[in-house]
Amino acid sequence: MKVDPTNPESDVIGRAAAVVRSGGLVAFPTETVYGLGANGLSAAAVAGIFEAKGRPSTNPLILHVSDASEVLNVAAAWPATAQTLAARFWPGPLTLVVPKRDSVPNIVTAGGPTVAVRCPNHAVARALIRAAGVPLAAPSANRSTELSPTRAEHVLKGLNGRIAIVLDGGPCSGGLESTVVDVTGEIPRVLRPGLITVPMLEAVCGRVEVGTKSEGVARAPGQMVKHYSPRTPLVLVDRADEAERARAAASRLGLRAVVVGFDLPLTAASMYRAMMFEPDQYAADLYAVLHELDNGRYDQIVVEMPPDTPEWAAVRDRLTRAAARE
Ligand code: AMP
Ligand code: MG
Repeated sequence: MKVDPTNPESDVIGRAAAVVRSGGLVAFPTETVYGLGANGLSAAAVAGIFEAKGRPSTNPLILHVSDASEVLNVAAAWPATAQTLAARFWPGPLTLVVPKRDSVPNIVTAGGPTVAVRCPNHAVARALIRAAGVPLAAPSANRSTELSPTRAEHVLKGLNGRIAIVLDGGPCSGGLESTVVDVTGEIPRVLRPGLITVPMLEAVCGRVEVGTKSEGVARAPGQMVKHYSPRTPLVLVDRADEAERARAAASRLGLRAVVVGFDLPLTAASMYRAMMFEPDQYAADLYAVLHELDNGRYDQIVVEMPPDTPEWAAVRDRLTRAAARE
């Protein structure tokens, strides 16, 4: 169903909310990627998400609220750091991991004692959550391990026939999944890099740590090594000349390779899909470009890695997982 991304029609939202209330699945746009939403307080409804995505039950989901005031319905505690970060970055692409309330079904948190919460900055997402009257459990609206969707057609590519409705609000502006920060410890810990970078977080709450602790209970879906992957094998290279060598090597083997260049000159334009050099623009386009290149025309997608700096961390993380074999 088409929906106005800034002023969602109330009858469209009403139909989708009714599906959520009756335990069904609705895909909807957010500012990061399209989400696959279900009533986050119903274990049966949430089980439908795992089923539709083919997602391992060990991977916890994020609960989406329409306003920060709703977190106490799902969080047993709201640490000062959570308050500080939410005040600065909500609504927006930041997920906070906090202690869970008993009312949150275990299937949402993969059995763990903490719950991940986020308030999205997209009028459709917020209207849907408000109309449904419950927090929405919503991972990305794709089959597990595949490319995330940033357009309604990407959702249908993977989930057509498995979900009740996709609300088509056009392309997602952010293009990468939210930054996930665990605020249950003394020092906030970034579990998944995203559009809110480490320097942005540190400017607000001081030092943060990065990466999962090895003994971490809740292994996050974004932590699985193979994730966000096109069906066409994706190969990462470091520099432009390596990209060209990789393409030449592929063509000697009779493989059709396409190069996603970073700072390649736009010669041989038909071979290259040059990406923007700005992290935000690159992030917004990344999945759409990979979806477009993953159409069976190529045997290999060669991507030149962006620089190893904080503002590129999320893009590098997704590309690394996209290139992983398992
Ligand atoms: P996705 O739904 O695919 O955007 O991924 C959800 C992300 O939320 C994962 O990458 C995890 O990092 C994170 N997550 C969800 N729940 C928890 C939790 N209770 N503890 C730690 N991380 C979580
Ligand atoms: Mg996902």
